[in-house]
Amino acid sequence: MIVEVKNVLKRYDELTALDHFSIDVAEGEIYGLLGPNGSGKTTAIHCMLSLLKYEKGEILLFGEPIGPTKYDLKRRIGVVPQEVSLMYELTVQENIDFFCGLYVTDKTRRQKLVENAMEFVAIQEFRKFYPNKLSGGLKRRLNIACGIAHQPELIFFDEPTVAVDPQSRNNILEGIRRLNEEGATIIYTSHYMEEVEQLCNRISIMDKGRVLITGSKEELKESVGLKDKLIVSQIDIAQDALTEIQDMVEVSSVFYEGEELTVNIDKNRAIGEVINYLDHQGMYYGKLSIKQPTLNDVFLEITGKELRQRV
Ligand code: ADP
Repeated sequence: MIVEVKNVLKRYDELTALDHFSIDVAEGEIYGLLGPNGSGKTTAIHCMLSLLKYEKGEILLFGEPIGPTKYDLKRRIGVVPQEVSLMYELTVQENIDFFCGLYVTDKTRRQKLVENAMEFVAIQEFRKFYPNKLSGGLKRRLNIACGIAHQPELIFFDEPTVAVDPQSRNNILEGIRRLNEEGATIIYTSHYMEEVEQLCNRISIMDKGRVLITGSKEELKESVGLKDKLIVSQIDIAQDALTEIQDMVEVSSVFYEGEELTVNIDKNRAIGEVINYLDHQGMYYGKLSIKQPTLNDVFLEITGKELRQRV
């Protein structure tokens, strides 16, 4: 395991920000910490980086306990913080060189790494610009370049796409995928379930400082019993037909309201069976769609609350 966090308890005075928080991250994973604002994601990252003290628990990175002065371990880690943190009196290139220089002292090697990092986030043409002259999206990209220039093996991204335009957001997600393909292990926090679903191969869903559930997105959905839904719009269907659909072996339940039929299915085979049945009965309908459960549905199932509405 690259990261082992065991039962961390972190309090800010009366507030318990991490409540026996535990995760394990294996080499090569893109691991998602998904939770609403205030659920403890940033606090968890700061504890893992040894930037914050905690009351109880144990944190190992690369199999070793992490501490504020473990520079050998820190050299192997990259951090892209939530708040853009740059030196405003340095140019783009100088910023990357400065942050890279915290870990790499050899000047020639650093020059190459800085060049690579600029290329990676496609910011070369702005190399002589000061951060104040950059758009929000470019500042974010520079922030990323500063965090990854020293080619770390483990990289923490803390909500890197908040307040970013869709194009830069896609660039950032694509870049993270590339870093992972090149061998980096990634820990990614977000309250955007779509991103986490797209990007991460394993996910812990958090709320109020606790990990509620961990697994791949398929495992998370399966473990709370969520299945696909077949939705048939603009259909006029009689009760006996509804009963026949309900009685199909791989259909778990049926709802009919406002000319819309929703069939909760156990196995995908049921989709064909229902459609065949409707066609066979000569029923007319508008559109057919299949709705897959989302991580928000998982969150809702466990907490009774919406992920996106909670602030
Ligand atoms: P997230 O990253 O998921 O939004 P945080 O880790 O920032 O969550 O915050 C977790 C909880 O701890 C929140 O209730 C937040 O208000 C509180 N908190 C965070 N930082 C501090 C701090 N420095 N002092 C007191 N409370 C804090």
